[in-house]
Amino acid sequence: MHIYINNKFHARKNARISVFEHGLLYGDGIFETMKAYDGNVFKIDEHVDRLFKSARLIKLKIPSSKQELKKAICMAIKKNRLKNSYIRLTVTRGTGDTGYTSKSDPNVIIIAKSLAPYPRSIYEKGVSAITYEAERFLPEAKSTSCLCLVLAKKEAEKKKCFEALLVDDKGLVREGTFSNVFFAGKKNIFTPRGNILEGVTRNTIMKIAKPAMEVRETQIKKKDIHSFDECFLTSTFAEIVPVVKINKRKIGDGHPGPITKRLMHEFKKYASGENAEGNQMRKIQA
Ligand code: PLP
Repeated sequence: MHIYINNKFHARKNARISVFEHGLLYGDGIFETMKAYDGNVFKIDEHVDRLFKSARLIKLKIPSSKQELKKAICMAIKKNRLKNSYIRLTVTRGTGDTGYTSKSDPNVIIIAKSLAPYPRSIYEKGVSAITYEAERFLPEAKSTSCLCLVLAKKEAEKKKCFEALLVDDKGLVREGTFSNVFFAGKKNIFTPRGNILEGVTRNTIMKIAKPAMEVRETQIKKKDIHSFDECFLTSTFAEIVPVVKINKRKIGDGHPGPITKRLMHEFKKYASGENAEGNQMRKIQA
């Protein structure tokens, strides 16, 4: 495995950063996780744009341009001879000294590796989730400070659930630990508005769904979640996953519903169409 650190590739065992790295010391950094289908990164522009948005929110200056980063991502896929892959791009405040604001030079790290798909049963049967009272700081930023997400996911795993849905101190459902959440009625879909990470998959689903149904970004209270007919999660890796139980209580009839299944199908079609558009690597490097 070849890891990219600041314009150079290193073998995995030599890919090291300093103990004075602020990402390590203070969780001070941002990241993106992307998925490549057959070597093409899905929505690479949207991911890189979101990285720059996260950087603005945490006042971090990324030492590369968007185009340079896109080239580096494609290089990492090529260098590791990957097709369907996981790409993690991290930019940290960098290596300096101890002290939150001590001067440091940002590090750019790219890990690309092959991707093991989720088991088919999660799509066919749906999954269970829990709710978890927690809020991320600066939720619109994808920051490396993930402690509340780690604890929420651990709690979900302890309860044999696939995901934890974060609920804020007003009782509003926000997002999962690695996903956004949607609920569906008979003809409409609903998803939390504001104070969330605007998922690339979430935004794609809203676009795909809009011609056929009403899509509402709104406030969703924890106490109302069992009044919906369907629920599903969206994320780069999992794509769309039906949720059939929350806190041990069924959603609808406890099976993936028609709207969820339709959107899963539409998303697959859309993703393969996007990737048929041509060789992204050549386009970006041209
Ligand atoms: N919300 C959070 C907190 C996440 O960490 C993620 C993805 O990692 C998402 C939502 C889903 O975003 P995307 O669809 O861009 O993967």
